[in-house]
Amino acid sequence: MADRISSLDEASISAIVRRAVEARLADSNDESDPYQLFHSRRAQVLKEEIVAAGRKLWQRQYVDGNGGNISARISPKYVICTPTMLSKGDLQAGDLSLVDLENNQIVGDRPQTSEVSLHLEIYKAVPRAQAVVHCHPPYATAHAIAGILPQGNLIPEQEVFIGPVALAPYETPGTVEFARSVLPMAKHHNTIFLANHGIVCWSDTVTHAEWNAEIIDTYCKTSMIASQLKSPLPEIPPAKIDEILAIKRYLGFPDGRLAEDRELPEAKGNLVRNPSSPSYLAATAIKRFNTREEVEELVRAVTAELLNLLDSRD
Ligand SMILES: [Zn+2]
Repeated sequence: MADRISSLDEASISAIVRRAVEARLADSNDESDPYQLFHSRRAQVLKEEIVAAGRKLWQRQYVDGNGGNISARISPKYVICTPTMLSKGDLQAGDLSLVDLENNQIVGDRPQTSEVSLHLEIYKAVPRAQAVVHCHPPYATAHAIAGILPQGNLIPEQEVFIGPVALAPYETPGTVEFARSVLPMAKHHNTIFLANHGIVCWSDTVTHAEWNAEIIDTYCKTSMIASQLKSPLPEIPPAKIDEILAIKRYLGFPDGRLAEDRELPEAKGNLVRNPSSPSYLAATAIKRFNTREEVEELVRAVTAELLNLLDSRD
């Protein structure tokens, strides 16, 4: 095997690498053929992530019956989403469908969830939102029914991943009014309580949006228990909250308390301000190799790495 590999010359290796790189770029960027896009490798990865998140939501009892829905943005125009009338515990990749931002189902056999319009409004309002999870976790939903938001500044993890939360007014699920009820708060709040209904979370990945659901529900539960022990509850001091905000700035997480988030015009909401932050890199990974020179540079770099590896084996 090693002999066969080492007999390949640089040009052959470079050609193989170029084919792989170009296939991956075409795979991830092409919106012209939605069917192809929906069956691309990138779509497969997103579908598996959605199925895994659905399983976690069901196992954690955040969704009952056919409740809850999950979606992921696969391109500027298209979103992969869960179907209606299916338990998230039974979800399979083949159950998902592709919809456009105008709520037309483009590919997929099962009818899409009627609540996807809520997701689409968030994608349109917040370009950096790459995934949305809606569910009914008991402790957070109890707060949404009572119309009471949990006290803030109690646990660092909540402040880092979520921060201040908001409450959207009740509207009938599936209606235009319901979908738009989150618009005033979607940009500054990645987790929003829906009055008499549940919560909706957005993030840079499906996994992270599901994390937000876990974090807020546990936060609601813990703060409810703590408030029975002592009231009012002592909060993290403001100076320490400033340190948490510095972490959020580094990570590129949204927070209405950050000056740049407050001042950022809506149209620029997709800009993540710290170019070295992990979420910035994840969000721009597909777009980083746009020009022919950049593609050639990538091919050269991977080819050189492979040749080094083969040299070291000789
Ligand atoms: Zn719901």
